[in-house]
Amino acid sequence: MKYYSLNHNSKPTLFQDAVKRGLAPDRGLYFPETITKLPNTFFEEIEDMSITEMAYKVIKPYIGNQIKKEKLLEIIEETLDFDFPIIEITENIASLELFQGPTLAFKDVGARFMARCLGHFTENTNEKITVLVATSGDTGGAVANGFYDVEGINVVILYPKGKVSDIQEKQLTTLGKNITALEVDGVFDDCQDMVKTAFLDATINEKIQLTSANSINVARWLPQMFYFFIAYRKLKHLNKDLVFSIPSGNFGNICAGMMAQKMGLPIKHFIASTNVNDTVPSYLETGAYEPKPTIPTLSNAMDVSDPSNFIRIQKIFNNDIFKLKKKLSGYRYTDSETKKALKEIYEINGYVADPHGAIGYMGLKEYFENNEGDFYGVFLETAHPVKFMDTVKKALKIDIEIPERLKETLTRDKMSIPIKDFSDLKEYLLR
Ligand SMILES: *Cc1c(COP(=O)(O)O)cnc(C)c1O
Repeated sequence: MKYYSLNHNSKPTLFQDAVKRGLAPDRGLYFPETITKLPNTFFEEIEDMSITEMAYKVIKPYIGNQIKKEKLLEIIEETLDFDFPIIEITENIASLELFQGPTLAFKDVGARFMARCLGHFTENTNEKITVLVATSGDTGGAVANGFYDVEGINVVILYPKGKVSDIQEKQLTTLGKNITALEVDGVFDDCQDMVKTAFLDATINEKIQLTSANSINVARWLPQMFYFFIAYRKLKHLNKDLVFSIPSGNFGNICAGMMAQKMGLPIKHFIASTNVNDTVPSYLETGAYEPKPTIPTLSNAMDVSDPSNFIRIQKIFNNDIFKLKKKLSGYRYTDSETKKALKEIYEINGYVADPHGAIGYMGLKEYFENNEGDFYGVFLETAHPVKFMDTVKKALKIDIEIPERLKETLTRDKMSIPIKDFSDLKEYLLR
């Protein structure tokens, strides 16, 4: 199986190369040449397989022979070594909790899988790879944790000074070893621009091998299919039409779900639930894709107005908006609606959601109001509510207990290097 660039100006390449590069040389996103249909027997027997065995069958076509079976099984087992509970909120709406991993965000799955693949590829070689990543919060922590102490890999994280929560800052600045946090005097977009400039800088690319660890990297994007399969495996016995609502920012998560559907996973419909950064819901209504300046919101991991992965979703549907709209709806919500939804969920059964999950919940409700069917809706709970403590506390007037695995991180000392601009970054990378 090869990957080709969606810009069509680079040669198709194998998994290992696609992972090491992140983006194709023509700056396009990599996309698999074929999307494998899983046989009916796979879905008939899904409950009898272990999660590792199931995930292996899902991802294997995209890895080909690039990782041996034993090693790939080991990588999957280590990636998925925490729970993915489904918590019922109403009789036909449930939360799929993706935050039980080490950094309390769904990004742990992709980051852990990618780190283990990349570590495997550089093992017993002299190769050194630098993972360069800009974060507005959750990506940095998940990537730092996933890559911590992986030989041959250095991780450099850029984050905007004073713009991430205390918890998030601790998660990305306290590990040390092969993880370095650069604290940028600016906003997230400045961090992202510097990273983009670094990927285009001839001197840097001559001296060091850079790759990215956000969802444009196929090794972070594709394993996100796993939890859609895990959820189906648990919900199959209901015999209902499954609808997934995904709180979406860069659209990596939902794009993985739509890949899973294309592989044959029986999911009836997807909902892209966004905050007021609503480029995709607007596109689905009008057919015009018009990113506007990003607006800060309470669900800040989704403050993205030009989502990188949307082009992959369009590709899955051969760029046919009519076909796409049969499988995907989009709804957007304001901050005050988000707070109201947090309260509503809490009042139903005491469930504490986070602002992103609350937006996912509203997407399901709106879809059910506008459509007829024997639906069962699942919204993805993409982060633990403790990561958005201030908002949740204010909306619900309750205290949230800090999980044990986080308490330890909070006692450690912050280590970061302040930088101002691209020349500081370049100097650091070439040091
Ligand atoms: C990253 C993130 C999202 C958005 O996921 P995408 O794959 O970028 O659409 C949603 N919620 C939380 C908590 C996140 O960290």
